[in-house]
Amino acid sequence: MPRSSDEIAFVFPVLIVHDDDDFSVFDVFNRVLDPVEGPLRLIHVANVAGRMPRMAQICRMILPVVAYGDPVLRKEADDVLEGMEGLDTLIANMWETMYRAEGVGLAAPQIGRSIRLFVVDGSPFGEGEEGDAGCKDFKRVMINPVIFDESEESCDMEEGCLSIPGVREPVTRPVSVKVEYYDDQWVLREEALTGIAARIVQHENDHLDGVMIPDYAPALRKAMLQGKLKDIAKGKVPSDYPMRHPKNVR
Ligand SMILES: [Zn+2]
Repeated sequence: MPRSSDEIAFVFPVLIVHDDDDFSVFDVFNRVLDPVEGPLRLIHVANVAGRMPRMAQICRMILPVVAYGDPVLRKEADDVLEGMEGLDTLIANMWETMYRAEGVGLAAPQIGRSIRLFVVDGSPFGEGEEGDAGCKDFKRVMINPVIFDESEESCDMEEGCLSIPGVREPVTRPVSVKVEYYDDQWVLREEALTGIAARIVQHENDHLDGVMIPDYAPALRKAMLQGKLKDIAKGKVPSDYPMRHPKNVR
């Protein structure tokens, strides 16, 4: 990162880097975050004349992930309108937020926006010889997705959720689905997905309908989870990434 006398420091929750900096946004974040207890504190920006407009364009933020218990996670999200102002920035921020949290998917309601949009990157599941072939390079932005042609064959797998840290629950889902969506260039696409890629997309698509993994648990298990879920809502469960907790949880 360039260091010079005209460097200024922001002390508010924004992460800004130059796109020609020779290390990643995560390096910046870690260096900055390290000595500080809370998330997203101190960011350096070289205040060089002529660079500001470009900087504004590539401004990226790591946003707090909304914790279980927030009503935004239970709403049916609205369609995204073509040409929505700030969509590119929102998507860039969602990528940053998802990677910071080491997630493989993040839906807009999880950063407090009740719109039908999610980002997924299943590539960690595609690595190595035993990796899931369908996850190799499976990185997508899906806007206004519609899932159809769910296979009759289903399978169980444990799932986690960035909004529910520390909880993993088995969820039964169709093995294969098709999905139609707009990509980040607003091109309508259709894809057939199977295996973990299909599962990730179904999990994220659930968020757009206000559905979360505890909803799939049998009644007894659901009852057992209540205490833990309440602790998450109250902010008593630690996470390795910034979170926003609902107010007035009893
Ligand atoms: Zn989730």
